[in-house]
Amino acid sequence: MTNILIINGSILAENGWVDPGFLCIREGKIRQIGAGTPSPGQIDEAKEVLDARHCAILPGLTNAHTHLSQTFMRGLAGGRTLIDWLKDVIWPIQAVISPEEMYLAALLGLVENLRCGAIRVTDHHKITGTPAHTNEVLKAAREVSLRFTLARSWSDRGKNPESLENILSDFRRLFDLSRDDDHIEIANGPLALWRCSEGALQATHQLVLEHGAFTHFHVSESQDEVQMSLDEYDLRPVEWLETIGVLGPDTQIVHAVWVDDDEIKLIADANAQVIHCPVSNAVLGSGVAPVAQMLGHGVDILLGTDGPASNDTQDIWETLKGAVNFARATSLNPTILPPSQALKLATGGKTLRVNDPADVIVVNLDHSRVVPVQDINSALVLGTHGSDVQTVIVGGEILMKNGNIAIVDEKALYDECRDAIQSLRKRAEIS
Ligand SMILES: [Zn+2]
Repeated sequence: MTNILIINGSILAENGWVDPGFLCIREGKIRQIGAGTPSPGQIDEAKEVLDARHCAILPGLTNAHTHLSQTFMRGLAGGRTLIDWLKDVIWPIQAVISPEEMYLAALLGLVENLRCGAIRVTDHHKITGTPAHTNEVLKAAREVSLRFTLARSWSDRGKNPESLENILSDFRRLFDLSRDDDHIEIANGPLALWRCSEGALQATHQLVLEHGAFTHFHVSESQDEVQMSLDEYDLRPVEWLETIGVLGPDTQIVHAVWVDDDEIKLIADANAQVIHCPVSNAVLGSGVAPVAQMLGHGVDILLGTDGPASNDTQDIWETLKGAVNFARATSLNPTILPPSQALKLATGGKTLRVNDPADVIVVNLDHSRVVPVQDINSALVLGTHGSDVQTVIVGGEILMKNGNIAIVDEKALYDECRDAIQSLRKRAEIS
């Protein structure tokens, strides 16, 4: 394992910024964080020395919700409501996408996340029809080597329902497949409440809990969904989840745009997490999640770009800035999410610590959007783009160095993706 020394940067450490500082990585872990410069001996010993002058050195970021296959569905949301967009574009493409196309789409999406410094990615893997599709996504994830959660989606109601027996058996297969891979986790990914039955939600949640995993699903993204829940159960969605026993510390509520104050209290009391996707919610005209109220109740919030079909990028920095601005605009309160607190939404509250796995990114702060840097948190939260991420290290392995990714031939990948989309659109009858 490479012995890496990163020098001259501003390091986000446990007790605050170390500036300038150096960080030493050995055998996959952070071994030392120091102020100033390392000794000449340490520099000589290192196999790799990365100069991070005018850069921030951060823990890798978390993109807690995306749909990687949607890299092949970018740019098609315009002018449709959420439900029409699903019916006219997303579901027709999902119905015909081949395993090979799924692999290319996932690989492209993972490369984009890597370039933006998102080293923990949760792919809410939509209904695919065959285990071969899921296997191809896992193959792409292994190649790129980020820390990857596959939230395997399912639906046992509505169009093309899957049997509970099949869903549970595929979950067992996936847990077996990923058992020895410390970069890959499996999670329960019910598609949306109105497409899932009470019994199947309970059974899948129970199964993943037995494997130390969690349930991750879209909840209250649009007002229509809330109305459907009220019509069918006479309860709002989060109230219904609480009633059926699927709301707890191992539950991730994605979106939560249309949750009322009582539902926010239920989420907080259950220690469930909210995955906030402000850019996607804005693109689809779904609304703005009540982040200020959630923070007021102590709800744990992570960020997600959501899939490229509704964003259209997976730049987690853009989502971070959107989260701050929308929360302030809707609460009429500029003190919500000060930059140092906002940054935690993207890092998952992590800092760089000695003896932790070396999941580290280096972000360039030597450009016209942030110079002169007077507050590093502001520069990162309000002035940084994904393309400013220079270097990405996961578990001590350099996946991107000074903007170069060695593990994937990006130009060849882009050509393959451009070719594949022509055939896919024809088969899905998207004009
Ligand atoms: Zn989504």
